[in-house]
Amino acid sequence: MMAGTDPSDSNPAPGMGAPGKILVSACLLGANVRYNAIPCGAVAPILAQWLGEGRVVPVCPEVAGGLPTPRPAAEISGGDGRRVWLGQARVMTTAGDDVSRAFQAGAQAALALVRSHGIRIAVLKARSPSCGNAQIYDGSFSATRIDGMGVTAALLAEHGVAVFNEDELEQADALLRRLERG
Ligand code: SF4
Repeated sequence: MMAGTDPSDSNPAPGMGAPGKILVSACLLGANVRYNAIPCGAVAPILAQWLGEGRVVPVCPEVAGGLPTPRPAAEISGGDGRRVWLGQARVMTTAGDDVSRAFQAGAQAALALVRSHGIRIAVLKARSPSCGNAQIYDGSFSATRIDGMGVTAALLAEHGVAVFNEDELEQADALLRRLERG
């Protein structure tokens, strides 16, 4: 259990309803929520299909945590999202502001959506300090990547959500269909 999380959050997510919902980074759906207010590009076909099936629950954890768009770029200093929850790393902006609390509030908002919709799968934007599921930047603002998860991805994974990124849509869709077959 990560520090700063409610023990009751450790309950397993309920079973997937019909249709099963999927949490998706809002920026992957065309929402103007990125730190630099530059769109991510076209919505991927699998995401468009999920939208048509009524499965998509969008979230931007940073905006949900109270940050504006645009906002200063931020990276995790001292480790990855797991270490932020343990109080061993911080999310810092290019201006030197510690925005860890806003990032954690946004992650908790994402977890609340997961719990209320019985979500077991998330597709989150790669390499974001909130949403990255496998790699993030190292906190030096030098475009250097390290292995690790963002703050939201780490919290969701801790609570049993399978977290994919936009380059792993086929795997996410395969898991979705498997879960729905039971
Ligand atoms: Fe918001 Fe995550 Fe997209 Fe960043 S990567 S804009 S936190 S949804």
